[in-house]
Amino acid sequence: MNNTAKPESKGQEPQQPRQGFPYWGLFWGILIAIIINMLFPIVGTNRIVPADYGTFISKVDSGLVKAVVIEDRQILFQTASPDGKADSTFQTGAMDDPQLVERLINASSPNKDGKIIFTKKIQKENSALMNFILLWLLPCVIMILVWRSVTRTMRSRMNGVGMGNFMSFGSSGARIYAESQIKTTFADVAGQEEAKEALKEIVEFLHNPEKYRQIGANLPKGALLVGPPGTGKTLIARAVAGEANVPFFSISGSEFVQMFVGMGATKVRDLFKQAGEKAPCIIFIDEIDAIGKKRENSIGGNDEREQTLNQLLTEMDGFDGNKGVVILAATNRPESLDKALLRPGRFDRRIQMELPDLEGRKAILEVHLKKVRHDDIDISVVARATSGSSGAEIANIVNEAALRAVRMGRQSVTTADLEESVETVMAGAQKKNKVISGTEKKIVAYHEIGHALVAALQTDSAPVHKITIVPRTSGALGYTMQVDTEDQVLMSRRELMNRIATLTGGRAAEEVVCGTVTTGASNDIGQATRIARAMVTRYGMSEQYDMMELETRNNVYLGGDSSLACSADTAADVDKVVLGMIKDAHAKARKLISDNLDIMHEAAGLLMEKETITGEEFMEIVRRRRGAKE
Ligand code: ADP
Ligand code: MG
Ligand code: ZN
Repeated sequence: MNNTAKPESKGQEPQQPRQGFPYWGLFWGILIAIIINMLFPIVGTNRIVPADYGTFISKVDSGLVKAVVIEDRQILFQTASPDGKADSTFQTGAMDDPQLVERLINASSPNKDGKIIFTKKIQKENSALMNFILLWLLPCVIMILVWRSVTRTMRSRMNGVGMGNFMSFGSSGARIYAESQIKTTFADVAGQEEAKEALKEIVEFLHNPEKYRQIGANLPKGALLVGPPGTGKTLIARAVAGEANVPFFSISGSEFVQMFVGMGATKVRDLFKQAGEKAPCIIFIDEIDAIGKKRENSIGGNDEREQTLNQLLTEMDGFDGNKGVVILAATNRPESLDKALLRPGRFDRRIQMELPDLEGRKAILEVHLKKVRHDDIDISVVARATSGSSGAEIANIVNEAALRAVRMGRQSVTTADLEESVETVMAGAQKKNKVISGTEKKIVAYHEIGHALVAALQTDSAPVHKITIVPRTSGALGYTMQVDTEDQVLMSRRELMNRIATLTGGRAAEEVVCGTVTTGASNDIGQATRIARAMVTRYGMSEQYDMMELETRNNVYLGGDSSLACSADTAADVDKVVLGMIKDAHAKARKLISDNLDIMHEAAGLLMEKETITGEEFMEIVRRRRGAKE
């Protein structure tokens, strides 16, 4: 690796990669001036009034005209006003009038000598130079400029990667362009305080590498941002560059793996070479798992990828950490990365980005609400309703709310917009004109009230926020929204069992009240089974299997798929245990519902009438009826 890069100078302007034509302003100014000159050759101070030819002749005959200018297509003439104060100028179309000259000679005029001054204007020929400029030079210049801006936008679309690939195979095909002025700062990243804290040191290092060098400290060369999709990994990497005010080389892992064998490795080499020249700077490799996957020992693995990874490892070892090149990488599959990438001296810092908690969601909402015009928003209501959402989803919710406000013809976003868009994002848009038959509507209403009632009667369940039977585009015919009042980190066995009971409450209501079962419960069944299975296989919450791990989880950040870690016999028995738990919960739900049929009927009646009721309205019925019983 060459180490001849110039010494870093602190506070120096970040270098501009390929600055464009620097005199844009001047250029446009001149261009506009030329256009104006061409379009408006005469910009006189007098106002020119249009007049018809008859008026012109009659003014000439009555001796009012002082001067006439005959042009190819128009005639301009000046008259003295009767009171002799101001002269006025008129304009009329040129007429094929052979007697005009004679008429002008003979006419009288207010001029001293009593004669009209008249002349024909000589049409000016454009000069040869002017012709050359207008017809040749200008179009050329315009074309060059258009070309440059087109190539530039294409380049930035391709995420900073040069377009040379089509034309050449050399290392120039792997040019990567740095973005020099990143506007993103830590203020744009809400929540994620721990991640910011960890990255601040890197910013400090980039600002002042000398301080670290003097003491002999080596900062980590690389940091790995790990977390579920949409938690702001890409965002925070840009923010580091923005805060440190250094060039930002950003490339996605998949861009290394190309059609041509060897290109990936070349690209890596080129990237580090350029970064060395631009130090201090940041290299950001997004979705690094595309190249950083564990190398397999099988013959005929993905050669291209392994070459690229080897090159990356070599480069990371090769360059001098004190030069001020910091490598950030992001992934949501950390467990799939090659161990060699994670050893000290490479990506030895791991920065965890988590799904935001309640406070985090409030902060993210605030950041994104700044971008839209809004009324007073009850942020905590919205933040509570978005439990489990990532930053990207919250950004999307705010945008949906703004779109909804526009659709409704309003000028600003309201809390109601946000609440509706939370539901749109979670359950799809409302299908207002879908017709549902009377019996179906009744079943859906009882089903939803069943969920809500079972939730409400088990004190540990989260309060019901809203019940609705307006169908959604996702296929949901109705749903019960539960909202946690606070973020929960731990769930007890009791709470999980209650949750399963709540999920079975819909079906239980169908059975108890309508005497039928429908397909409407399929989603509930899936969720209930997943919870029950996890309780047995992962949380050690069954007597039979105590604290034995029966399942391992992969890809925790991407939904998570699990693979059994037990024998087939055990697996069959686990199924029985899971079934038992679900049956218990179902029986409990059925009992709660048949004991409180009066509440069921009243609440379902109200729901059928209004289609959407709030948690408060529902709880009012529950409290009143239960109060009456005691
Ligand atoms: P990731 O790379 O982790 O998948 P991104 O950084 O691409 O996620 O985030 C996508 C978008 O989500 C961002 O552009 C931003 O608008 C929003 N976002 C995510 N997390 C946050 C956060 N903590 N604060 C503010 N906005 C966020
Ligand atoms: Mg990303
Ligand atoms: Zn249901």
